[in-house]
Amino acid sequence: MSWTENVRKVVPYVPGEQPKLDKIIKLNTNENPYGPSPKVIEVLKNFDTDVLRKYPDPNASDLVNAIADYHNVTSDRVFVGVGSDDVLSMAFLTYFNSDLPVLFPDITYSFYDVWANLYRIPFETKKLRDDLTIDASDYDMPCGGIIIPNPNAPTGVAENVDFFENIIKKHPECVVIIDEAYVDFGAQTCLPLTDKYDNILVVRTYSKSRSMAGSRIGYAIGSPRLIKYLLDCKFSFNSYTMDSITIASGVASIKDEEYFADKVAKVIATRERVKPQLRELGFDFADSKSNFIFATHKTVDANIIFEKLKASNIFVRHFKNPSRIDNYLRISIGTEGEMDELIKVLKEIL
Ligand SMILES: *Cc1c(COP(=O)(O)O)cnc(C)c1O
Repeated sequence: MSWTENVRKVVPYVPGEQPKLDKIIKLNTNENPYGPSPKVIEVLKNFDTDVLRKYPDPNASDLVNAIADYHNVTSDRVFVGVGSDDVLSMAFLTYFNSDLPVLFPDITYSFYDVWANLYRIPFETKKLRDDLTIDASDYDMPCGGIIIPNPNAPTGVAENVDFFENIIKKHPECVVIIDEAYVDFGAQTCLPLTDKYDNILVVRTYSKSRSMAGSRIGYAIGSPRLIKYLLDCKFSFNSYTMDSITIASGVASIKDEEYFADKVAKVIATRERVKPQLRELGFDFADSKSNFIFATHKTVDANIIFEKLKASNIFVRHFKNPSRIDNYLRISIGTEGEMDELIKVLKEIL
């Protein structure tokens, strides 16, 4: 027998390309085209590097308290992690420990099945309707947990709070996770449900609406009991996940509401301006409440458009799996100028 038989083998998540070229238009990983708050830049410029001698605060208390203040909840209801991927991975490990399957949509964030496989969690996917909306009745069965992004990724389609409350009411036996990575771009938040139900976890990230994908900050809000279980698992895994510099910049960002609101509004305005332009060019898409548009073209193959855009140094995302979406492109919303260039190039190649 070979040692390789005793190795944990997994098929990893494949992140979007991060091309090393200058002068490209990068619309492939839903980053924010605007920089982080000037308050963050100030923190980075003035950071006392002697602090790096010491371990960071394992509880990241300054950041936990700032997030708790911002959302008007107590600190024992907040968990922070190194990006929401870290938060979600810990949440899978902590809450999805049943023999019954965890449920999520067939078209959704493609990391969910990777974590389920990594942790040997049984799961079942539920098919989106043809218009890419979620059929709540699909989730009407005993299960080991539920996770749904709102708005869903990569579709951009949002459901309202009542939709999720109806699902949660039926599932006192498991934890329901709402991944709100894109909620700031116009969807309803499920945060009020965390006051009412002790088994719902709402997960957020700084990577999209706060322009800080490079800093790796994510957080979750739930009931004190839910958060306690998550912290127990985190402290059984790695205590010092978030570094001192990141903790300080995370605090500065969430305290600068004016800058945040202004940049989010800008992205939304650009998205709404681009929607009719894409339709005019022959694209079809469900209405997006996120910082991307998930579109299919009426006559031209997604792969052809993808390659031609790439040849013009414009990067968008093309998922080859599941095959139901292999004729779609996910186009992140960039600056006004970037989107003008995209439309111009599309006009040339279509
Ligand atoms: C981007 C994204 C994440 C991960 O974000 P990070 O905080 O950068 O790890 C999680 N869920 C969804 C649906 C996303 O699109």
